[in-house]
Order: sequence, then structure tokens, then C-alpha cells
Amino acid sequence: MNALGAHRFNWLRFDDPRIADFRYFAMEARWFDSVTVYRIASGGRIASNRLVPDDVNLHNVNDMILPLPDVGDPRAPVFVRVDNYAKFRDAPKMRLLESADAPAGFVDDLVFAALLMGLVLAPCILAAMLAFALRQTFVAWYAVVCAGMALTIAMTSGLAASWFSGNLVVFLVFERLGYVLIMFASCQFARDFIERDALSPAMRKALRWSGIFILVAGGLNAGIIQSPALFGFAQLVVVTALIAAFTQALRRGSRWVRYQLVGWSFAMVLVTDIALKGVGLGGFLETNFLIVFYAMVWEIVVVAIGVTDRALMLRSDRDRARQLAAEMENLAERDPLTGLLNRRGIANQYDSLMRRGFTTFALIDLDHFKSINDRFGHQIGDHALIATASALAPDEDTLAVRLGGEEFMLVLRGADATLRAERRRRAITARIADTVPQVDRPVTASMGVVEAPGEDAAGLPFEVLYLRADTLLYRAKNEGRNRYFRELLVFGEPPADDHQAFAA
Ligand code: GH3
Ligand code: MG
Ligand code: MG
Repeated sequence: MNALGAHRFNWLRFDDPRIADFRYFAMEARWFDSVTVYRIASGGRIASNRLVPDDVNLHNVNDMILPLPDVGDPRAPVFVRVDNYAKFRDAPKMRLLESADAPAGFVDDLVFAALLMGLVLAPCILAAMLAFALRQTFVAWYAVVCAGMALTIAMTSGLAASWFSGNLVVFLVFERLGYVLIMFASCQFARDFIERDALSPAMRKALRWSGIFILVAGGLNAGIIQSPALFGFAQLVVVTALIAAFTQALRRGSRWVRYQLVGWSFAMVLVTDIALKGVGLGGFLETNFLIVFYAMVWEIVVVAIGVTDRALMLRSDRDRARQLAAEMENLAERDPLTGLLNRRGIANQYDSLMRRGFTTFALIDLDHFKSINDRFGHQIGDHALIATASALAPDEDTLAVRLGGEEFMLVLRGADATLRAERRRRAITARIADTVPQVDRPVTASMGVVEAPGEDAAGLPFEVLYLRADTLLYRAKNEGRNRYFRELLVFGEPPADDHQAFAA
């Protein structure tokens, strides 16, 4: 029964002069209710063979075949009645055969089809893997398109029929599935692959729903109802949606739609040819399944280049974004005037620095700096701060930080850490004198140094060390400036007064 509940049947009559040579009746595997082959001998004797879907075994290129009945007269004409065949228009494809053997060249065609299938399966597997790595839906949809094409090639070339002795229903369901998958996934792919701003929200919606429509129509058509009209309409909707989307994307300057256009070009030529034949103008191609496969492989290959192109671009976009983020983070941890780390930078790195042996903290504050600003101006003050930063000369064992204003910190590791800090403190005066000659008097600095060696120090919060260093710095200021105080933190022993003053 078709969707309208009508019962349709065809009668065919074969009585050509060569009739005696034929042994079988063959027709393309399609939905049907029953086929009955009759032979009527001149004496009026009738013999018949009947085929129903449950008895079908697919044969060679998806043909269903039925032996001609024997009436004892090899010249007796053959009559065939086909009930509810889904391809009535293809009556020419119903024919008589001399033998059930595969036609010449059939194996070559199969080998070639297998080759094409491999050509489609390879990008399918790669894309499926890439989809997981990139977390991009368009790559996954591309894999589904490839899978649909591989399935279609296997079903329509006769490959599947040569692998499995198939039940007709299973065969037709899988054949339809391959075809539906291509159309469904192509819609979803176009929607996700083309740039977001190259498709209007309505167009994206249209693509999604026409894809879902053909999935449902194809599914219904394969299993529940037989409605070529519904399925044909769904195909029309999909083709219209795709063409509309491609046109819009092209107008909006999409880069990615061009791959799709070139990829589908071959298939569009085929469709044009089929349409021309359909309206009786005659086509320009000798269409067979191999040409259709070429069109599919062409689409797969061209779009694979597009997918790769876009995936690479995604990666470089991502790398660029990552680099920018790193730079931003770097900026947020740097003092813009001197380029040294700022308070945030040292706070972020503190734990890791301690672990790596940076356990000496020297807090340095310029002496009477306010008067420099007052006498020579803020700009000269800034130059003095820049000179100070360069005198602090960070290296791989010495981190220099500008905590704010004219307050700096050195974080050092190594045995002679305090000595190296002191050298730098003294270098400030010389450096400012050298590079900011406008300042006509020496600019000195005071310093408080805390050494916290040993593993026990690793648990101390930065603030504690900072407060200790600040206390020592305060002491240096109080005792006449241009000097430093140092303190060695000793763990586990009674506190010893290790404070020492070192006047310059
Ligand atoms: P002391 O020896 O006690 O440290 O005296 P001081 O004048 O350095 O003391 P104070 O900390 O009160 O003054 C710090 C001055 O540093 C105040 C401000 O004018 C100056 N200053 C802070 N930040 C900047 C800056 O970014 N650029 C300039 N040019 N000056 C700054
Ligand atoms: Mg100061
Ligand atoms: Mg200060």
C-alpha cells in the first residue's frame, strides 16, 4: 500500500524473438508487495512463479531476480505482474536475463566502489577524531556527511549486497538511511560551518529544521509509511534551504561557503541533468552510479580542505588569544613606569619563589624623595624611579619589584643574597646621578633585609616577611637613612637579637 492507500500494479509483456534464451526476470530492489511471472504456452497451459519481499535475496547490483517458470515451451511469452512497486517509472529497468551470473565488468565496478568508499571513510574517521580534539560541531557534522556517503556507496554499488545476503527491508532501510544522513548532516554542517554573521538567524533555523524534516520524512518513509511524495517534498525543502543559505552567505562575503559551493558543484551538475531529463529536454550525461560517486567524493575532498582550513584558522586564533591572555596577565603583573614586577606580580609568584629558594627579601625606599619631586618636578622624579629600577638589575637569582611610589623590593636567592642586595642599594645613588643629572644632590636609599632560609620559612605568608622588612627599613630611616638593617629568621630556636646596623 502506498500512503494514499491506493493499490497499483503493472503488467509487462516480454515476447521478443530471443525469448527462448532467457531464464530470469530481474528488477531493481525497491519496495513492492509482490511480483508474479507467468508463462503461457500456445496450448493454453499456464505456469507462474511468485516473489514476495520476505523471499528476496539481493543479487549483484541490487537486483531482485526471479526464475522464469517452465511451461515446456521456451518460446512462450512472459507476462509479469508487479504490485505496488515503488519505482513504476523505472519499468525499463525490469528486464529478462540469460543467466544469474554477474554481468561483465561487475567485479571491476565493485572494486572501484570499494576504493571510493575507502576514500570517503578515511576523512570520516579523521573528522570524527578531530571533532573530539577541537570540540567543534561542524567537524562532527562533516564526519556524519562522510559516513552517509560511505553507506550510500556501499548500498547502491552492490558492495553491501555482495557482503550480506540481505533481506530487502533491511537493505532498503540502510540505503535510505545513507541518503538521508547526507542530506540531514549537510544542512547541519552548512549551519555550523559557515560564519555566524554570514547567515541570518532565520536562515540558520531553516537549515536546522529542513535537516530534521528530511530525517523524519526519510525515517517514516523507510519504516512506517510509503510516501514518495512526502520524501520528495522533503528533499526539495533541503535543496532549497541549502541553495538559499549558500546564496545569502556568498552575498555576505563568507569565506567558508566557497568550499561548499565548489564541493557541491559536481552534484549540482548531476541534479541539473536529472531535472532536464525529468522535463523531457534530455540530459547531457550518461548517468550511472559511478558518476554519482565521483560527485560525492569530489564534495568530500573539497569540503575536507575547507574543514582543515577552518580548523587551522581556529587553532591560530586560539594560539593568538592565548598569547594575548598571557601578555595581559603579564601586563597586570608589571609596573608600567619601570617595567618591574608589581605588588600583584610578587604576590602571585610568592609561593613558587619560596619553593625555588628565593628566601631573602630586601625592602628599599628612596630617602627624602618627596623633596626631589618638590624641587625638580614630578617628571624628574619619574626619571629617578626609572634609574632606580635599572640599578636594581634583576637577574636569574634576583627579582626586582616596585611595590608602589618609591618603594621597591628585591627577592633573592643564594648565599650572598644580602650582599648583592646591598650592592644594588648603593648602585641606586650612582645610577640616578648618571642618568638624571638635573638632580644636583645624591639620592640615597634605605633598606630592610629579611633572610628566611630553610624549609620552615616556606609556610610564612608574604605579609609577615613584608612587615618584618618594613620594621627594619623604618629603623634604617630612623637611624639616619642611607643604610640597611638585616634580620635572619631562625626557626625552632629561642629568638636571638640578630639585628645589625650597617651604616654606609
Ligand atoms: P623618606 O626618606 O622618609 O622615605 O622620605 P620620602 O620623602 O621619600 O617619604 P614619603 O614616602 O613620604 O614620600 C614619597 C614620595 O614619593 C611622595 C610622592 O611625591 C613620591 N612618589 C610616589 N610615587 C611617585 C611616582 O610614581 N612618581 C614620582 N615622581 N613620585 C612619586
Ligand atoms: Mg621615601
Ligand atoms: Mg615611601
